[in-house]
Amino acid sequence: MPLTSSSLPVAVIGTGPIGLAAAAHLAVRGLPFRLYEAGSSIAASFGSFGHVRLFSPWRYNIDRAARTLLQEAGWTAPADELLPTAGELRDQYLLPLSRHPAFAGQLELDARVIAVSKSGYDKAKTAGRAEADFLLQIRTPSGVREDRARAVIDASGTWNQPNPLGIHGIPAPGETDARDRIVHGMPDILGASRRRYAGRKVLVVGAGHSAAGNLLALVQLANAEPNTRIAWAVRGTDLRRLFGGGDKDGLPARGELGNKVRSLVEQGRLELHLGFGISRIEPTADGLTLFAIDSGKPPIQGVEEVIAATGARPNLEMARELRLRFDPWLESTDPLAPLIDPNEHSCGTVRPHGHRELAHPEPGYYAIGAKSYGRAPNFLMATGYEQARSVVAALAGDLGSADEVQLELPQTGVCSVDFGGAQAATASGGCCGGPPQQARDACCALDEARKSEGEAGCGCGAAAPARATGAPAAMAACCG
Ligand SMILES: Cc1cc2nc3c(=O)[nH]c(=O)nc-3n(C[C@H](O)[C@H](O)[C@H](O)COP(=O)(O)OP(=O)(O)OC[C@H]3O[C@@H](n4cnc5c(N)ncnc54)[C@H](O)[C@@H]3O)c2cc1C
Repeated sequence: MPLTSSSLPVAVIGTGPIGLAAAAHLAVRGLPFRLYEAGSSIAASFGSFGHVRLFSPWRYNIDRAARTLLQEAGWTAPADELLPTAGELRDQYLLPLSRHPAFAGQLELDARVIAVSKSGYDKAKTAGRAEADFLLQIRTPSGVREDRARAVIDASGTWNQPNPLGIHGIPAPGETDARDRIVHGMPDILGASRRRYAGRKVLVVGAGHSAAGNLLALVQLANAEPNTRIAWAVRGTDLRRLFGGGDKDGLPARGELGNKVRSLVEQGRLELHLGFGISRIEPTADGLTLFAIDSGKPPIQGVEEVIAATGARPNLEMARELRLRFDPWLESTDPLAPLIDPNEHSCGTVRPHGHRELAHPEPGYYAIGAKSYGRAPNFLMATGYEQARSVVAALAGDLGSADEVQLELPQTGVCSVDFGGAQAATASGGCCGGPPQQARDACCALDEARKSEGEAGCGCGAAAPARATGAPAAMAACCG
């Protein structure tokens, strides 16, 4: 839906790295925009894990349009290869960007978008719908207000909707009552939250990078505070998959996380509970006892604090009155889902995608950034920056540029890890040669090349039929 006649702004929801990047692209193209931020400062999610050192260096963390705007204003970019903390990224890049003159008067803090609809249209009404403006309800300190917009870019992330501990995707019995002992995400274990965890038995739940970061911080704490005990519960059973690509990871700091956790497990520093799906939580005199769905597993006892690094899910309620279509299990758009489904891809990387894969039946609404991935993990800022560029180009009517999606993501190296002989990694050491560039039914470059030569592919293509039928995907032969 090109922005031709309307003088209304494009509404951008959220001032995380991706919302600000979208606004930068709109500014560079001279399109009016308005940015809404629920928090009382920009990048509220990044602020809450400001102590965390990122695993991607600066060169992947700065959007191109944002760099242009900032450099025109005399900003000097930090060195490409340095790894900032989330707080440094906010202070040295996002804050200066939000203060750029192009943003003046367009960014509103303490402005939570609570609903998005089409002005004068509920979801069921069709005639004339395409011409109707978008309508946003915004909760501010002075009450609820309604604004109109020509298009909506929803970059509100997923950080505030953490997944529960319960194995069934809903809070386990006892979980809500135990909330005072549960923190989601990445608390500042060595800083502001040190006293909370020092000398306690702490259980970390989850198998991603956040869980790894929490475990490493807890071990550092335990070195100084010897009574601190650390337990780790994961649903899976294959530790090699949890440790990631290690030395083969294109982002060395990310690979290093897995290597360090592997070494902690080997040294016996962690009380490890593999294949532990939490089904029930009970309070006891000395803390909590957590039970597994597999009754053969002994419960985890005496837990004084739980850190749930169990991922997050998107808020779909906000745009419920729009005509949106989601993948039934990931809650991303349909076309994006096969590219990022963790049931079928262990590669942790994604082929270039843009406005077409992100479009919904309601023209002019796009969810980009972490929210675009729905429940899928491994979102990277670089992915979101390219989404922002493509979507804004499409809104500007520049379809040539919008369709020319380019994404150079560092490989996770996971596909070249030996999972027991099932891998066919190439010499590149990447995801079977890296992500596919074009083919929708391919999950990696090798699969794409084989199919383009008329062959059956290398096995990853099992993804499409499995998603279509809802049947469990066969373990892909080359991509794990
Ligand atoms: C601990 C951690 C470490 C990570 N490390 C890396 C890394 O090293 N490299 C990398 O590339 N990626 C990393 N990521 C992944 C990803 O880049 C981040 O999740 C990033 O924050 C996503 O940006 P975003 O703009 O989509 O969402 P967010 O940063 O979550 O921003 C969303 C914004 O929207 C606001 N908001 C939410 N709801 C509303 C509403 N209704 N109305 C108005 N505003 C709203 C929020 O307050 C927030 O400011 C990491 C993620 C985490 C959690």
